[in-house]
Formats: sequence, structure tokens, C-alpha cells
Amino acid sequence: MSLYPLTAHALLDAFKSGKASAKEAYEDVLGRIKAVEPKVKAYVRQAKTSPDFSGGLPIPIALKDNLCTKQEEITCASRILKGFISPYDGGVIERVKKSGGVIVGFANQDEFAFGSSCETSCYGPTFNPWDLQCVPGGSSGGSAAAVAADEAVWALGSDTGGSIRQPASFCGIVGMKPTYGRVSRYGLIAFASSLDQIGPLTKDVRDCALLMNIIAGYDERDSTSVNEPVPDYTKALVNDVRGLKIGIPKEAFAEGLDPEVRASLEAALALLKKLGAAVKEVTLPHTPYAVATYYIVATAEASSNLARFDGVRYGLRAQPVKARKNALVDMYEETRSRGFGPEAKRRIMLGTYALSSGYYDAYYLRGQKVRTLIKNDLDEVFKDCDAIITPTSPTVAFKIGEKTSDPLSMYLSDIYTIPANLAGIPAISIPGGFSKSGLPIGLQLMGKAFDEEMLLRISYTYEQNTEWHTRKPKL
Ligand code: GLN
Repeated sequence: MSLYPLTAHALLDAFKSGKASAKEAYEDVLGRIKAVEPKVKAYVRQAKTSPDFSGGLPIPIALKDNLCTKQEEITCASRILKGFISPYDGGVIERVKKSGGVIVGFANQDEFAFGSSCETSCYGPTFNPWDLQCVPGGSSGGSAAAVAADEAVWALGSDTGGSIRQPASFCGIVGMKPTYGRVSRYGLIAFASSLDQIGPLTKDVRDCALLMNIIAGYDERDSTSVNEPVPDYTKALVNDVRGLKIGIPKEAFAEGLDPEVRASLEAALALLKKLGAAVKEVTLPHTPYAVATYYIVATAEASSNLARFDGVRYGLRAQPVKARKNALVDMYEETRSRGFGPEAKRRIMLGTYALSSGYYDAYYLRGQKVRTLIKNDLDEVFKDCDAIITPTSPTVAFKIGEKTSDPLSMYLSDIYTIPANLAGIPAISIPGGFSKSGLPIGLQLMGKAFDEEMLLRISYTYEQNTEWHTRKPKL
């Protein structure tokens, strides 16, 4: 029996009944990597630490290349961090190790998580397992492709504006961004600190609940971590949406929405109604400003977070061939010029501009105000609804290179995912259909803060009544 295609819960059953061992599962996954990785290129590095199979949940996991793991090289897919060895385990890594998780390797991403396609990585792109000419989405594209191609049983990614959900949607898997504060970011290399969250990418909704059980919880080393009790998320997996009220924002049918994605959303609404949920049209009037707001707030925070990469403390240190100003300034400039790729430079410049005196009020402060309006819209809808449904992305996976010369069109692929980050609420992407060309379509559900259980319940019910999650790419 092949073990690599199995979900984590199916593997755990196989371990329990003695049908398979954790070592066999790991070796099977390694064999799969050998077979398909030359085509997919999901990983940037194999884990150096040798696997330990003695823990309770020895599931082979892929980690995004921005999660600090002790004695491992962690680079955020950036030249500037090449050679950086993490001296410690981040909060989620400690939890994964404590659960017995077997770290397979580090997955590709956009450089510093800046992107929606995995094309800004200094290692080159990852390829979508469903169509190798297409992007896997981003920024956690390597994590999503690894799971979709069965090169890992599950994976962790990070989501600042959609980076877990959009690649999950493009690769036909489940991806959840938990509530801000639910999962520790201690040891996550920061992109935009008021938006970043770590979350699971899995083959089905049950695995998402299981991985949430492992990673959720308070961590005093992350000042934004919230000390709220963590439920057993698997208890939310009931096949029942009767009596629930699901909001469908009229803004979801925005310009640029692919007709096939729209049709999948409409079919999902019909199914949820048939299963007993009430579907109600709602409005989020400020969401048309979400992308603009995000690109002020996120770049401002990124420019500040990236200031620490100066050649002194981490990774790359570069000296100019000829002295220019003074030795220290020359070294800073050379390191940053050579270390950062074009998208990172673009964001540092945009963010520094938005924060500069004279423009701070006009951009950053105004952005923060609009952020509040977007959050207020969502709060208003949640007074009456248990969840909100939208597409995850306006389109299916696009071709490699299709949007690289037009950053704005790339940024627009996040219109549905960004509001949840701005408001700090949880959101999930689940498989919701396929295009005629055979590419996966994702559905997004957003919920109230700390109500991941509601998202899991609706997602599980939808999944139990559809078969999208059972399809596999032919590789
Ligand atoms: N695609 C978005 C961006 O480029 C979101 C990235 C993310 O969530 N890390 O910023």
C-alpha cells in the first residue's frame, strides 16, 4: 500500500492498527519526493536534523522557509539570508516537535512572503502540480504544492494577505489562516507584524483541525499571542449546517471574477442551502479599498521589519569592490542591494515612502483608518451571520510569468483574502470545484475572531457532501 497519498488522520489510523509504521510513511514520502520533486520544485532544502519516529503524531510535515527551526538554515527564499542558521525553534516548531512531527524539509515561498505566485523566490519558481505551466500561488506556494503533490502529508505556511489560502485554492487543498493571536509567531520571520499569522495547509478539513490542535495556543514570547483556551478542533467536525446563517457579500461578485469561479461559488451556495443553512446577501461596502489599504499597511510594516537585514547580524554580508562612502555604510548598501530581490526592494521603497514625514498622515494614517472601516463592516455582518462565504481568489492558477511584469495585477489576486488579515479574523480556503481546464477552484469562509470551529464545521459539512478534495493531480 502506498502511504504518501494518505491524509494524516488516515496515516494515524494505519499506525494504530499496525498496518504501517511512521518510518515507512516517512520513507514513502521521501520516495515520492524523489519521483516528482524535479517537476514540482516545492522544496528548497531537506531538513538536516535526522527524523525521530518515537512521538505521538509522527506525521511528515513541510515547513515554509520562514519558520525558524533550530540548527537549520532558514532563508525566507532571499539571498540576504543565505547561510543563516536559526539558533532556536519558533513557537509552532516547538509544538510540532513535541507532538512527534517529522520535519521533511523547507518549502519554497515568495521572497519574504512578498507575492502571490512563488515567483519572487531567489531559488526560482515552484510549479503547480495540477499544471506544471502554472504557478502554485503564493507566498506559501511550496507548502501548498508539497501537500497537493503528496510530497508532504501536511504543511505549515504563513498568511499576511492570503498566503496560505490563495495557494491552497490554486493547489486544490485546505488552508486556514487562524485568528490573529491564536497561533504564536515567535520565530516567524516577520513580514507585516499586525497581519502575519501561521496556519495549516492540509489534504482535508479533518487534518486542518488536527494540525490546529497542535499549533494553537498561548505563547508569552509573542506579545500579540492571546491567552484564550484552545478547544479540541476535531469536535467541530460535524456534518450539519442546519440553522446556520451564511452571508454572501454582494461585493464578492466583483469585476474580474472568473465565470467558472463564480459558478462554483453559486453551486456551493445552493448546496449549503440544500443542507439546511440560510444564505443571506450582505454588504461589505469598504472592501473595494482593502487591497489599497493592505499595500500601505503591509509595505510600511515590511520596510520597518526588513531594516534589520543590514549585513551585520544575519546571513549575507557583502563589500563593494571599490570604497564609496565609509566602510560601514558601503557594507550596508552593498549587502542590501545584492541581498534583496526586486519585489523586496519595491516594497521597502513603497513602505518607507508611506511612513516618511509629510506623507505619514496622507498614507499610513489614512490606511489605518480605512482598515478600521473594513473591520467595522465585517463586525456588522457578524452580528447576524455565523460566517461569510466568498471565492478565495478571483481566478484559478495563472501561468508562470503571466503577471510578473505587472505587479498591480498580481496584487489584485488577493482581493478576497486581504480583509480577514486587516480585521484579524480567521478564514479558510477549501476545494470547491475545478475549471474546464482541470485547475482547482477554492472557496473561502471567514468567521468571527476565535471561531475557527464554525469555519471547520461548515467546511467539513461541505466536504462531506462533495468530492473535490479526493481528486489528485496526475504527475
Ligand atoms: N500576496 C500578498 C502579498 O504579496 C500576500 C502575501 C502574504 O500573505 N504573505 O503581500
